[in-house]
Amino acid sequence: MTAPLPPSALTADRRAADLARLADGWRPDVLVVGAGFTGAGIALDAATRGLEVAVVDRGDLANGTSRWSSKLAHGGLRYLAKGDVGLAHESAVERGRLMEHIAPHLTRSLPFVTPLNDGMPPSAGVLSGLGYVAGNALRIAAGTSSRTLPGPRWLTPQGVRDRVPAVGRSGLVGGWLNTDGQLVDDARLVVAIARTAAAFGAAVLTRVAAVEAHRDRAVLDIDGSRVDVRAGRVVVAAGAWSDTLDQRVRLRPSRGVHLVLDGAALRNPTAALSAPVPGHLNRFVFALPQPDGRIYLGLTDDPVDGDVPDESTVTPEERAFLLGAIERVLEQPIDPAHVVGGYGGYRPLVAGETEATSDLSRAHLVLDDGDGPLTIVGGKLTTYRHMAADVVDRLTDRPCTTARQPLVGALPRRRLDWVAARAWLVGRYGSEAEVLEDLIAADPTLGRRVLDHLPYLRAELVFAVQREGATTAGDLIDRRTRIGLVPADREAALPVAEALLDRSAG
Ligand SMILES: Cc1cc2nc3c(=O)[nH]c(=O)nc-3n(C[C@H](O)[C@H](O)[C@H](O)COP(=O)(O)OP(=O)(O)OC[C@H]3O[C@@H](n4cnc5c(N)ncnc54)[C@H](O)[C@@H]3O)c2cc1C
Repeated sequence: MTAPLPPSALTADRRAADLARLADGWRPDVLVVGAGFTGAGIALDAATRGLEVAVVDRGDLANGTSRWSSKLAHGGLRYLAKGDVGLAHESAVERGRLMEHIAPHLTRSLPFVTPLNDGMPPSAGVLSGLGYVAGNALRIAAGTSSRTLPGPRWLTPQGVRDRVPAVGRSGLVGGWLNTDGQLVDDARLVVAIARTAAAFGAAVLTRVAAVEAHRDRAVLDIDGSRVDVRAGRVVVAAGAWSDTLDQRVRLRPSRGVHLVLDGAALRNPTAALSAPVPGHLNRFVFALPQPDGRIYLGLTDDPVDGDVPDESTVTPEERAFLLGAIERVLEQPIDPAHVVGGYGGYRPLVAGETEATSDLSRAHLVLDDGDGPLTIVGGKLTTYRHMAADVVDRLTDRPCTTARQPLVGALPRRRLDWVAARAWLVGRYGSEAEVLEDLIAADPTLGRRVLDHLPYLRAELVFAVQREGATTAGDLIDRRTRIGLVPADREAALPVAEALLDRSAG
């Protein structure tokens, strides 16, 4: 006998039933367009306040920018450096909530090493040290425990190389060790937010595009048919594409790219490495180790003109910029064979007075007037919950409860050790890892890896179809797992994903 599915399960049957409801004239209180961090967060907030909610995305969950981020829950240090104390505090508070209450299973503290050598001016070391002390003060003011995010400290040259063995020895005088929040994966967090919204009754509908959005009406494209849907209020959270649905929006999208490196490129570091960008006081490139053994090296910040594409790769100039900046602190240049992939994303920044997108505010903007939809743009993933609350506060007087609302699979950090499942699964599914172990117990072939050199298991793909709303092989390898970030791995995993999709859906 199979166990009944929990209300958070996004299944093909549930999708079909919700689509039929919409086509039959169901009028939700809130219709959200876009299921990235912002839209999924709004759906969750509204559903927890008792509103009837539908959220649609023209692609999969985390179809847009929300899967192309650096996967960090920032403490807001960068905003402090620009004098925006309010935004810095908000970031630090939301980071703490995410790590301690909302998603301890999908977040971890990531140590960052900033090496200093005798070729750098002494002021560089003093300035970065002062910055980390200020960042720690933000953490304390936000009420986040030092057990969650330990404070900064100075490392000896040996301490630097113990954590990142590829750092150059010559002239190394030591370095700062600082910690920030890291997501196990951005797309996984969006899926968890959307499924938690579903547990509170929200209809979560992927592959449904909005063609028009008005105050209380939208035209949706459902399987090729235009359906006029009425709602108490339509909310546009379509990120860098919001201006295609709401003419009031003025965006200045900024492109940010990462290279994907094999862990061997930096001799399998246990900490992230940050290196200053030459000629900038407050700009760094980061090499960020990931749970699957790869490293993401980022990040650029360049304004874009014209249409924002759905997917994009890294240009030779961007690759040279990132490698050049990080190699300044390494023993030897990175072996080109270790650069295995790359990805680009677009920050949905609100246009301002300045040309440089790095100077544009990361604060969000809500447009709420006239006959148009309620539209939210800007912000960042760290503050998605606060942004969602700002929107839903305009729709109901009922109080927001998401500050301490755990997402599906969440457990207090110390209790994650007690989950009866392998550590890899607990780190990606929290308490739900036991369900994946049950799948493997029933069919031991699901305990095999999808690809031998990566830790993702076949059971994860089955779980993604049965509970996480995956409907295509691309959903499985590009968003529920991140195998697809390396083109050769994507090609090799596709047949496995297709076979498991057929089997699980059938
Ligand atoms: C390179 C990079 C690195 C970043 N790193 C970080 C970081 O480490 N930490 C941090 O806090 N922030 C980071 N950010 C910012 C953060 O990623 C974004 O602010 C956030 O993901 C935006 O989420 P969103 O939901 O607003 O937009 P999106 O994720 O783009 O979601 C918009 C959704 O709308 C859908 N959509 C569009 N048009 C329609 C339509 N007509 N009908 C239906 N659906 C539609 C899209 O398919 C998409 O899924 C980074 C950004 C970039 C670009």
